[in-house]
Amino acid sequence: MTLLCNKCNKKHTVFHRRYSGEYLCRSCFMYSIEKKTLQTISKYSMLKFNQKIAVGVSGGKDSLALLHILKKISKRNNNDIIAITIDEGIEGYRNESLSIVKSFCKEKEISLRIFSYNELFGSNMDEAIMKRPSKKLSSCSICGTFRRRALDLASVSVNADILATAHNLDDYLQTFMINLFSGDISRIGWMYPRPIEYSNGLKKIKPFVEIYESEIVFYAFHSGIEFQTDECPYMDESIRSEFRLFFNDLEKIHPGIKYNCFNSINKLSKIVKSIEKNEEIKNTCLNCGETSSNNICSVCTTIQMLNLSKKNFSN
Ligand code: SF4
Ligand SMILES: [Zn+2]
Ligand SMILES: [Zn+2]
Repeated sequence: MTLLCNKCNKKHTVFHRRYSGEYLCRSCFMYSIEKKTLQTISKYSMLKFNQKIAVGVSGGKDSLALLHILKKISKRNNNDIIAITIDEGIEGYRNESLSIVKSFCKEKEISLRIFSYNELFGSNMDEAIMKRPSKKLSSCSICGTFRRRALDLASVSVNADILATAHNLDDYLQTFMINLFSGDISRIGWMYPRPIEYSNGLKKIKPFVEIYESEIVFYAFHSGIEFQTDECPYMDESIRSEFRLFFNDLEKIHPGIKYNCFNSINKLSKIVKSIEKNEEIKNTCLNCGETSSNNICSVCTTIQMLNLSKKNFSN
């Protein structure tokens, strides 16, 4: 006997949401993801009418699914959408995703701008890996530092009010663990999903922050979105993969534990932020002028360590 959907009670189940016990048909599942995205946007006051949104798009399932949903929402909210893609310069990996993003944007009539590490920082990732002083400086820490700045610069250069990225609930938990295990407690204070306005006027939002990665894969697949499945060749160097496995194993035994953890991190984030507020020292990087807690920001420090000559990468 085929199980019927718990929501509509008419169609066949295609998805079992273990943490809530729901059995959902395809259309009720798709609707639930879009509804959850809208609820997250509203809960954390992420968007207003008429704002211009730059969506960071890599070509993976999360970012294309986010672009797909934000494009739908944008009509009723009168939001202007622009996709921005950062080309890290990883041979054999980024080339494929760039063509996926281009054809997706063409089909959905979304403007796309591509920015490269090479033009912004004077080196692509493959060269940066060759130039790093030791493996202690991991590929993902170089790449993450550059990507954050590249997305900021790209968003400001297209006059966006908002930068939307597709970080999901799993990413959020992994980031927390990375901050915790690296002793970077002050970053935990910046994790709460309500957007903060940065000195350049940009606000950053993560509308998928309350959605499991596995559900986004399912959503993207059933939306007919073609996405890149190959993994980055440098991925194994990141401790993120180990935390991903850790949380997935826990979730298998204790469905819903990721949500519980998410809620605890949010509470912790607020506490850390309130403590740090009293001690907050706002510095500006002496080299590039960006906000930094040290005299020299992490991008400039990385550029120095890699011995790159590019200096022109600030807003
Ligand atoms: S896995 Fe690491 S190196 Fe590869 S794209 Fe992601 S952050 Fe960059
Ligand atoms: Zn249904
Ligand atoms: Zn700097």
